[in-house]
Amino acid sequence: MLAVPASLLDIDMIFLDVGEHSPAKQVFAPKSADKAHINGAFSDPTKIRELAQKVDVLTIEIEHVNADVLEKVEPSLPLGVHPSPSTIRIIQDKFVQKKHLRSHGLPVSTFLQIESTKESLEDAMQKVGLPLMVKSRTLAYDGRGNFVIRNQSQIAEALAVLKNRPLYCEKWVPFEAEIAVMVARSTTGEVRSYPAVETIHKDNICHLVFAPLRHKDPVIADRARAVAEAAVKSFEGAGIFGVEMFLLKDGSMYLNEIAPRPHNSGHYTIEACETSQFENHLRAILSLPLGSTAMKVPSAAMLNVIGASSDLEEVKSFASFALTVPGASVHLYGKGECRKGRKMGHVTVVADSDAELRARLRILLDHLPGPKD
Ligand code: ATP
Ligand code: MG
Ligand code: MG
Repeated sequence: MLAVPASLLDIDMIFLDVGEHSPAKQVFAPKSADKAHINGAFSDPTKIRELAQKVDVLTIEIEHVNADVLEKVEPSLPLGVHPSPSTIRIIQDKFVQKKHLRSHGLPVSTFLQIESTKESLEDAMQKVGLPLMVKSRTLAYDGRGNFVIRNQSQIAEALAVLKNRPLYCEKWVPFEAEIAVMVARSTTGEVRSYPAVETIHKDNICHLVFAPLRHKDPVIADRARAVAEAAVKSFEGAGIFGVEMFLLKDGSMYLNEIAPRPHNSGHYTIEACETSQFENHLRAILSLPLGSTAMKVPSAAMLNVIGASSDLEEVKSFASFALTVPGASVHLYGKGECRKGRKMGHVTVVADSDAELRARLRILLDHLPGPKD
């Protein structure tokens, strides 16, 4: 999705990823041999060095990268590494990230360091109560790395599921809604937020995004943007950031986590905003003027297309159906294999009103592969 605006702006890109035909490489054809994509792991020091020698600026689309090597290659890059490797390092350890946010006076719920032992978890339960959210500090995504302990008898299971992973825990947040804000940060530190959106998760995976956030108190959306901008200002380096938050009944909000990259909650911006999160990411890291983050449609939603089984045909036939729905734009990621729970693509729906949006979305939801809810 970064490759699309890059080609419109005539910006060359070289992607490092495993597989010759990984999704980004399918979109962006190198213009010459010295600009060929690189096949390898984005944690592999040799491959990162190889990439660094070929580009002016290096950026990431996932935070689980090798921050040490990025830091080492940074001085050799004319336009640096964005966001800054120090930012990536803080964010990739959720416990360090939470401490960083708290130390900058930003709102986070109670969290505690723990050891992977029964005693440590019992102690944490005493201190913050049940349910207790146990999280892997590193390498987590789509909730893989989280375990909710609802009663004491689940401690052994939690330790077994999260074994060999560094842990911390969080107090359970009884949120009314989950919200998110994308924020672009320029190389000079200017920040520009997108409208707040509501995100709805199913089985720990983002299922739906509604833009803009509808709340009976219109001040909430502006407050969410202010909190998200303050959070992104606390980090170094340029680029787009996804800020996930919990909204409580009394209108207060806590930061959940920050993604230092384009984010699923911002995919709707491709069709619904004046500048997409991907284009603004490119503009930010290249010191180009940031684009308007305003919505250009009254109402939008994004539906993730998640594998219900290993059958890729299910996904393809849903995508063909989605093409018949007015206002719907289909994005298939070109992942060669489908798996249950794997994000295979998404559909953005735009409409002139919330009622029209819901009607269009309903049709899509009724045809989604997998069990209906
Ligand atoms: P991703 O990076 O894909 O967003 P992740 O694996 O990093 O997910 P989190 O964002 O930490 O996981 O948590 C996933 C979901 O679990 C949240 O979106 C929220 O629904 C729920 N959750 C996380 N922390 C808490 C908490 N402290 N209290 C209540 N619910 C929580
Ligand atoms: Mg995460
Ligand atoms: Mg998350």
